[in-house]
Amino acid sequence: MTASVPLSIAPREEQVFPVLTPTQLARVEAHGKRRAVQRGEVLMEAGAQHYPLFVVVAGALEAVRNTCTGEEVATTHRQGQFSGELNLVSGRRSLATIRAIEPGDVIQVERESLLGLLQTDAELSEIFMRAFILRRVALLDRGFGDVVVLGSQFSPRTLQVREFLSRNAHPYTYLDLDTDEVSQESLDRWKISADDVPVVICRGEAVLRNPTNAEIADCIGFNEAVDIDESHIRDVVIVGAGPAGLGAAVYAASEGLDVLMIEANAPGGQAGSSMRIENYLGFPSGITGQELATRAFSQAEKFGAQMIIAKGATRLTCERRPYAIEIDNGTRVMARTVILATGAEYRGLPIENLASFNGAGVYYLATPMEAQMCKGEDVIIVGGGNSAGQAAVYLADKARRVIMLVRSGGLAETMSRYLVRRIEDNPAIEVRTNCQIVALEGAKETVDGHDVPAGGPLDVHEVLIAAERELSEGEAPIAVRVGLGRLDGGCCLNAHGILSLGIRSPRTAGAQPPAVLRLARRSPRGSPA
Ligand SMILES: Cc1cc2nc3c(=O)[nH]c(=O)nc-3n(C[C@H](O)[C@H](O)[C@H](O)COP(=O)(O)OP(=O)(O)OC[C@H]3O[C@@H](n4cnc5c(N)ncnc54)[C@H](O)[C@@H]3O)c2cc1C
Repeated sequence: MTASVPLSIAPREEQVFPVLTPTQLARVEAHGKRRAVQRGEVLMEAGAQHYPLFVVVAGALEAVRNTCTGEEVATTHRQGQFSGELNLVSGRRSLATIRAIEPGDVIQVERESLLGLLQTDAELSEIFMRAFILRRVALLDRGFGDVVVLGSQFSPRTLQVREFLSRNAHPYTYLDLDTDEVSQESLDRWKISADDVPVVICRGEAVLRNPTNAEIADCIGFNEAVDIDESHIRDVVIVGAGPAGLGAAVYAASEGLDVLMIEANAPGGQAGSSMRIENYLGFPSGITGQELATRAFSQAEKFGAQMIIAKGATRLTCERRPYAIEIDNGTRVMARTVILATGAEYRGLPIENLASFNGAGVYYLATPMEAQMCKGEDVIIVGGGNSAGQAAVYLADKARRVIMLVRSGGLAETMSRYLVRRIEDNPAIEVRTNCQIVALEGAKETVDGHDVPAGGPLDVHEVLIAAERELSEGEAPIAVRVGLGRLDGGCCLNAHGILSLGIRSPRTAGAQPPAVLRLARRSPRGSPA
């Protein structure tokens, strides 16, 4: 029995597959119903949209998935153990089939009741949520999911598709047509040619050729559980699911408000691409942005918040209440309160042919996927801020040499002290100050960066850009560009970057000033003003 071991020090295996005590089983049973199962009975099929949690009272259950080469067993749940992982909390489709391998008894808990249990029983909530999160981590590591990506390391879009799935913490199997043995039979079966790459196969059924992120999200069913009926008025709609949006969602949902997040890409925002965040409260040993985002999203979902993924908010109408937010595909959601947490949008470097190297030698993230491409090679990092510093420290382990090109005279003004020290102590990292990248040359997959004022070309295959160009005279600061450029306010955005949602709620009329959201301004040097 694991129950006597505090979860925080229980061995990992016992946290992934905990065994509930008789008292805990009784508390779960109050939220579900007990029933007998027969050997071989299929309790739930992989791909099912609505399915419950099963807790084994007696007997054993097996979680399996079908692959091209046959059935694969993910795990076996025995007495006191339970099925499920994060998709159950999200209301997304099941990744595995659950089958009884011994006759016995199970407690069946429907999803709505499970959410109720997670919100009301702190001890069981910790046990279930920790297990679900750790199981997802294991599925991601093993590529055990319902999606296969067929791609090429030379295809920029392949990298974007993989990043989209990873940023959404969705497990997938990747087959590289240049390096992996993909049988001709498989290619013929799916009628796939090299021109179709990347190809995404969902649940062994739908074959998407060079799909958009929205098409992938629809195919996997990321948004299936979200109710976007116009007559449903939400208490809070949050645009953007970076750390700010996720934080707002957790607090609002935990207060019992009906919360919807709208995210144009994937939860986590900019932070989602960081390989190690060390200055967020409560993570003394650091946390990857991906893990932070997955945990925060699950936390918000646990309290009932929902999220629309890969669909941006395009227009906000705030002359009337409820406010209306229009989404990419033209549908509208209605809200009593709107929180805009759309973060920042980067200005690209003013280099003429930059676009032709994007994803083919020039990258904007330093995740394990980019690291794989830099393995044993020289890589240039353009920029001297914290993102550049994190990337340098992370890639220094993988690349042969990391060269940082920094526009100013040093790192001290733009980078946190702890990162500067790590860079100074790392012999694999070279910092070149007073340097500016002015041109890119090379064949399609090779980039040469020019080093100014030293002038000579730097011969590298990978360039990571973690910098933005300087503002020109009179150019709008970045945050205001976001407000206007990515979400049409439809009203009320003044020259100072203040968005006024100037309608008083009947309940507070006269008592409260109109809600005012101040957008951060940046000085021309890029530091917050
Ligand atoms: C590589 C990297 C490493 C970093 N490391 C650290 C660190 O160690 N410590 C630290 O304190 N900070 C770090 N930062 C900065 C930190 O990530 C940001 O300050 C933080 O993410 C800002 O959070 P946010 O929620 O305000 O905005 P963002 O993270 O920018 O999130 C905004 C979200 O809104 C979405 N969005 C935008 N427009 C729309 C729309 N119209 N409709 C729907 N969705 C929309 C975007 O897709 C995005 O997901 C790092 C940043 C990067 C890029």
